[in-house]
Amino acid sequence: MNDKRIEAEDLRAMLGYTCRRIQEEESNLNALDAAVGDGDHGITMRIGFQAIQGSLDATPREATLTDVLREAGKAFMGATGGAIGIIFGRMFIGGGTALAGVKEIGPVEFKTMLEAMEASVVKAGKAQPGDKTLLDSLHTACESLNSQPPCRSLAEAASRAADAAEEGAQSTAEMHCRLGRGSRLGDRVIGHRDPGAVSFSLVLRSMAEWVNAMDSASAPKV
Ligand SMILES: [Mg+2]
Repeated sequence: MNDKRIEAEDLRAMLGYTCRRIQEEESNLNALDAAVGDGDHGITMRIGFQAIQGSLDATPREATLTDVLREAGKAFMGATGGAIGIIFGRMFIGGGTALAGVKEIGPVEFKTMLEAMEASVVKAGKAQPGDKTLLDSLHTACESLNSQPPCRSLAEAASRAADAAEEGAQSTAEMHCRLGRGSRLGDRVIGHRDPGAVSFSLVLRSMAEWVNAMDSASAPKV
């Protein structure tokens, strides 16, 4: 079993890998958004995650887990604006704040981070589960980490959360939009997943891929 825990330097590498994976999905995310919004979600994510990459490069070596996540959130928010910029930005900042004083992320700290991310998104976006937003994948991911048995490794926690986030994102296809532009489209959004929920599931999937590859020679570093 891969029972590694990750320090700030690993988190930086994991986020760097996530930045690359999200940018590869730009056109897919734009296509999803074209069905329920204005078709620019992939562009926004590319800009936001490029800014996160820039913050990772600029953050000093001695940065803590909290510093890395907070700087990532600030960079995303500063680069993108709009509701999704605030939501993704506050999400990373909230996750980082919850890890203050923590040196390593294992399964327990990973759950702490995700729960703080959910609380930040709820506060920033005023959405509830079922509103066809990013929260539908994030909330499902958090719930999966509360189910039994508890995860014994970070690799297990990250994989379980990523699987649940994908299910949560898939479930948004059956939902109406209550907030934002999509709320005026009524039944026309049925059958289409929420782009933000899909993006968040991609973030968790990227983290899970990175953690699971960490032990092998091909572990994607920086
Ligand atoms: Mg849009």
